[in-house]
Amino acid sequence: MNLLSEKYEAVIGLEVHAQLLTESKIFCGCSTKFGNPPNTNVCPICLGYPGVLPVLNKNAVEYTLLMGLATNCKINERSVFARKNYFYPDLPKGYQISQYELPLCEDGFLLIDSDELYNSELKKRIGIKRIHLEEDAGKSIHDIGFETRVDLNRCGVPLIEIVSEPDIRSAREASFYLNEVRQIVQYLEICDGNMEEGSLRCDANVSVRLIGTEKFGTKTELKNMNSFRNVERAINHEIERQTNILEEGGVIFQETLLWNADLNEAFSMRSKEEAHDYRYFPEPDLLPVIVKEDWKNQISKKLPELPDAKKRRFISKFSLPEYDSDILTQDKKIANYFEKVISFTNNYKAVSNWIMGEVLKIINEWKIEITSFPVSPENLGKLINLIDKGIISGKIAKDVFALMLVKNKDPEEIIIEKDLVQITNTSEIENVIEKILGSHQREVKQFLEGNEKVLGFLVGQIMKETKGKANPKIVNELLKEKLDSLKKN
Ligand code: ADP
Ligand code: ZN
Ligand code: MG
Repeated sequence: MNLLSEKYEAVIGLEVHAQLLTESKIFCGCSTKFGNPPNTNVCPICLGYPGVLPVLNKNAVEYTLLMGLATNCKINERSVFARKNYFYPDLPKGYQISQYELPLCEDGFLLIDSDELYNSELKKRIGIKRIHLEEDAGKSIHDIGFETRVDLNRCGVPLIEIVSEPDIRSAREASFYLNEVRQIVQYLEICDGNMEEGSLRCDANVSVRLIGTEKFGTKTELKNMNSFRNVERAINHEIERQTNILEEGGVIFQETLLWNADLNEAFSMRSKEEAHDYRYFPEPDLLPVIVKEDWKNQISKKLPELPDAKKRRFISKFSLPEYDSDILTQDKKIANYFEKVISFTNNYKAVSNWIMGEVLKIINEWKIEITSFPVSPENLGKLINLIDKGIISGKIAKDVFALMLVKNKDPEEIIIEKDLVQITNTSEIENVIEKILGSHQREVKQFLEGNEKVLGFLVGQIMKETKGKANPKIVNELLKEKLDSLKKN
């Protein structure tokens, strides 16, 4: 950041599109399945043939309401669909059915972490202007030689658009907000939240103003950022560009910019003059959506524990550090796994350490979901208990865990089968110490002459002799006793 960042502040509002995980499309019975051959999930309705009529998918409305309730929105009792008119090859009807004047949800908010607030108990409030329901367009594929082809499978897949108030003040805050939105849609199981595949998409509106002034500056809109990293980079880049222009006495033009992640640069897509006039008008083929109190209450009852509540519960109920709780609750499925493991052991912190360490490492390396992780919660719980009871050392436990990854086997069976039970029998350990000291006279002499460092070496030899099975604490104690007695003689 440069000095100018002390003079100017950014004003940012995000428009997030989330593809809903309904089985069928929003206005027809076609499948929403991703990855089918191009133009196979289509019918006369989503292809926009003349004379067809849309039928609204009730699940899509319920998912939108769930999101509205999870983000503290007011649910409009009456909302209407509108036609947004524009011409593009991936929009066969020539208009998109969306919501304009009366969206399903309005005036909500989310609480996010912020750099402005140093106390982690405090959260920053980001207003949510509206959440509306609409249909997705198809996809133009430009990368086949010099041709452009169009795949209409995505036409009519339900989308919600979540529009924030311009309450965000930095790229990092934008990323916190986006993460919160993604976590919530995943917890609600209404969207998979995958930015790379485009099921969660984010446009950022950015302006800057002199610190202390009230009036907003002219905004630009950034599109085409398909990862959290790109959202942050693109916004920072745009803040810097606008700041430099203002500092040189220039003016910002309202325009839409396309982010190019390879070039780390944004390119103008269209200016205000070229902006679309969408000629919105009410959709004549669909009735208004009426959401009565009892339907709303029914949906409220389906709200799961949300990420922030779960995070706070993990801290208070299991005495976990905030850091741990944050990681464990990022993904609801990981949080569920944690809660299953702790029904088999009481060492909550150890469970947290194993999941944050070994388990997440494997999941990331293998690129799998926790739901296909080979070690069952019960067996991980048992493994942790074996360490706590001193039956195996932490180091041996790692080896046992590696074997459990191959086949979800009971760790007790593994340690018996492989003869890995920790040696805690003092006379057995004393015998090994005698043997090692006998064969390492030189090192013993060095120790007696004051070289304390060889102690570690001797412990290592003893552990090696027992194939890592000796209890290291007992080895250390007994070895010190033995050497001290030699010193005195
Ligand atoms: P438009 O009518 O241009 O679409 P909206 O009022 O619908 O503008 O807002 C679109 C998005 O832009 C919202 O997320 C809003 O928070 C954000 N926004 C509005 N004005 C500004 C501004 N001056 N700077 C940054 N973002 C803004
Ligand atoms: Zn269809
Ligand atoms: Mg708008």
